[in-house]
Amino acid sequence: MHEKIYMRRPVVEIDGDEMARVMWSLVKELLLEPYVDLKTEYYDLGLRHRDETDDRVTAEAANAIKRIGIGVKCATITPNAERVKEYGLKNEWPSPNATIRKVLGGTIFRKPILLRNVIPAVRSWKKPIVIARHAFGDIYDGEGLEFGQSGYVELSFKSGTSVNSVRKLVTGPGIAEVKVNSLSSIEEFARSCFNYALDERMDLWFAAKDTISKVYDAKFKQIFGEIYEKSYAQKFRAAGITYSYFLIDDALSRVVRSEGGFVWAAKNYDGDILSDLISSGFGSLALMTSELYSPDGFKEFEAAHGTVQRHYYAYLKGEPVHTNPIATIFAWTGALRARGKADDTPQLSMFSDTLEWAVKKTVEADGVMTKDVASMSAIPPSHVATLQEFLTRVQENLELALGRGEQK
Ligand code: NAP
Ligand code: MG
Repeated sequence: MHEKIYMRRPVVEIDGDEMARVMWSLVKELLLEPYVDLKTEYYDLGLRHRDETDDRVTAEAANAIKRIGIGVKCATITPNAERVKEYGLKNEWPSPNATIRKVLGGTIFRKPILLRNVIPAVRSWKKPIVIARHAFGDIYDGEGLEFGQSGYVELSFKSGTSVNSVRKLVTGPGIAEVKVNSLSSIEEFARSCFNYALDERMDLWFAAKDTISKVYDAKFKQIFGEIYEKSYAQKFRAAGITYSYFLIDDALSRVVRSEGGFVWAAKNYDGDILSDLISSGFGSLALMTSELYSPDGFKEFEAAHGTVQRHYYAYLKGEPVHTNPIATIFAWTGALRARGKADDTPQLSMFSDTLEWAVKKTVEADGVMTKDVASMSAIPPSHVATLQEFLTRVQENLELALGRGEQK
C-alpha cells in the first residue's frame, strides 16, 4: 500500500450540474482520492439542492471559502425560464458565480492551458496570457438616453445640497450614456491583480485610454500606480516581475508581437471582449481555467466552461461522450497547489505538478485526446478518446510518474 499525500487543511468543494458534475466525480474517483488524503468541506450546488435550500447553500459555500481560504467549484446551471420548467424550480435562482463573487469580491483571472500540439492563432504566443477583468461598473451599470433635438446633455453629481456638473452641447437628434464606478472597487481590483501576479510570478499589464478619458480611465491608471508604488513595487522587484501601464491600443499591438507569459488587467468592458479574443486565440473554453482572487486573499478555482448540457443528454442516453476534463483537473490542481503553498505541505503542490504533467503527457506524447482537442491538434491523434478512456490514460501516466505504475 502506498501512503496517500497528506493534506493539513481542507478545501471547499462546490459541486455542480450536468456533465460537469459527472466529470467532477470521475476526476475525484480516478485521479485524486487514490493518491491524496483528500480533505474537503462539501457543498452541493446542484440545481435541485439549491432549490431545496432556497439557494442558501450558495451563500454558505461562499462563506466557507471566507473561513477556509480556498475553494474549488464545478460548473453550475444559471437557471432561465426553460430550466425552471425542466427542474420544476420554485424560483429562477441567480447565477451562483455572481452570488459567490458578491460575497468574496475580487477579480476573475482566465488562464489558458497550453498544449504543445494546440497551436495558438498568434504564432508568437508561447506562454499563457491571463486576462483579469474588473467585473464591476462601467457600461454594465450604465444608463442611456436618446433625444430628438439639439440641446445640452448634463452630467451632475448631487449629495445633499451640493451639486457638481458638466454640460455638453449636442447637435441632435442624438444619444448619451453615463457609466459609473467606485474607487473602492477599483482599489480592490488593483490589489487582486498585484497579488495574482506575485503568486504566479508573471508580469502585470494594465491598459486603458487615459489620454482621452481624462477623468475615468485616468483615475484607474492613478489608483493602480499609487497602490503599486506603496505596497507592491518592492515585492515585484524581489520576485523579478514588472508592472507596466500601457495605452490600450498600444497594448493590443504589443500583445500580438509578444510571446505571452503575463497578466493583462482590463476594465469591465475591455476585459469582457479581450477574454473572448484571447481564449479563442489560445484554443478553446475547454482548455481554460478561471480563478477568483479576493482582495483579502481568498481563492476559488474552476473550469471556465459551463455544464456542457448537450454532452450530458447524450450521456444520459448511454451514448459515448468525449467531454474534455482537462480544465476540471486543472481547477483541482490549482486549488491543491494553493493549499499546499498556504499550509507548507510541498508534497501536495508537487502532486498538482505531477498530475498536470500526466495530462500533458497523455495529449502531447501519447496522442490520446478528446474530440475537441483532436479537432485542433497539429499532430494526428493516435486515439480519439472518450471521457472515461482519457481519464484512464491520465491515471496510468500519473501512476508512472508517482513510481507506482508499470512501464508500457
Ligand atoms: P458550455 O457548457 O460551456 O458548453 C458549450 C459548448 O462548448 C458545448 O456544447 C461543447 O461544444 C463545448 N464545450 C464546453 N466545455 C467543453 C468540454 N469540457 N469538453 C468538450 N466540449 C466542451 O456552455 P453552455 O452550453 O452555453 O451552457 C450550459 C450551462 O452551463 C448553462 O446552464 C449555463 O448556465 C452554465 N454555465 C455555467 C458556468 C459556470 O458555472 N462557470 C459557465 C458557463 C455556463 P459541442 O457541443 O460542440 O461539443
Ligand atoms: Mg464576453
